[in-house]
Amino acid sequence: MNPSRRGLILGAGAASVAGPAFAQSNDGLDLNGRFVQGGFVMGRAAPRAMVFVNGEALITASASGLFIVGLDRDAPPYVDIEVRAGNSVGARVVHRTLSIAAGSFPSTRVNGLPQSTVQPSDPALLARIQDEIALKTEGFASRADADDFRSGFVWPLDSYRVTSRWGSQRVLNGTPARPHYGIDLAAPAGSPIRAPADGIVTFARPGMHFEGGLTLIDHGQGLITAYLHQSRIEVLPSQRITRGQIIGRVGSTGRATGPHLCWRMKWRDRNCDPSLLIDQTAPENV
Ligand SMILES: [Zn+2]
Repeated sequence: MNPSRRGLILGAGAASVAGPAFAQSNDGLDLNGRFVQGGFVMGRAAPRAMVFVNGEALITASASGLFIVGLDRDAPPYVDIEVRAGNSVGARVVHRTLSIAAGSFPSTRVNGLPQSTVQPSDPALLARIQDEIALKTEGFASRADADDFRSGFVWPLDSYRVTSRWGSQRVLNGTPARPHYGIDLAAPAGSPIRAPADGIVTFARPGMHFEGGLTLIDHGQGLITAYLHQSRIEVLPSQRITRGQIIGRVGSTGRATGPHLCWRMKWRDRNCDPSLLIDQTAPENV
């Protein structure tokens, strides 16, 4: 907490209640979630309250007061959440500092990948990859005014085996690479993939160089899940989908050595672990 900054925020006539970390109180802000690197914070505040994360105005709570904040793999040990509701006359500012646990991210080696998917060098391929990055970026830039994360997630596969954990440091064909920002769920080719929560499809396209068949779903406030390597896509861009609905089929398209779903999640520009949202629900309305 930074008293001088709070002093700056509070104008004449403003009221402030700054509770201790983790307090579930009647001051207008309830928080829960997984306070760990790669996790998230879910909150309930006043409808349309502005939410500041480490001093930056990032999101607005939904019409029912819900919001979500993603914590990336390198999240610092503390995160500061502040909500402001009302106008300059009746402003209400509530503030929490949460401590964020360190994640554990093992190192994994993946061998036998086609070299063109590890260190592409062909100019035509590099141009294609740039085009695909632009398309994906557009899909990830979607910001649905929704709180479809409020009931947490269900697993996207009926049965699966986790073959690579989220956040692991990767060594691909012997070359150190970016951390793995997905959780790999192995399942037989053709297994149905289900939406883990309601949302809107913002991208659905087969044949991506790295991702193969790729679908993105916007669950609101910049929370977007991704489904890679699909053998078949069964939704269309802009389609509204509901939790449990089949969106595609498990495959091994793109950079994959066998049939699996690489399940990813972003909150705005941060990469987060989607499995941490399983069975999590927003704070109750009290
Ligand atoms: Zn993966």
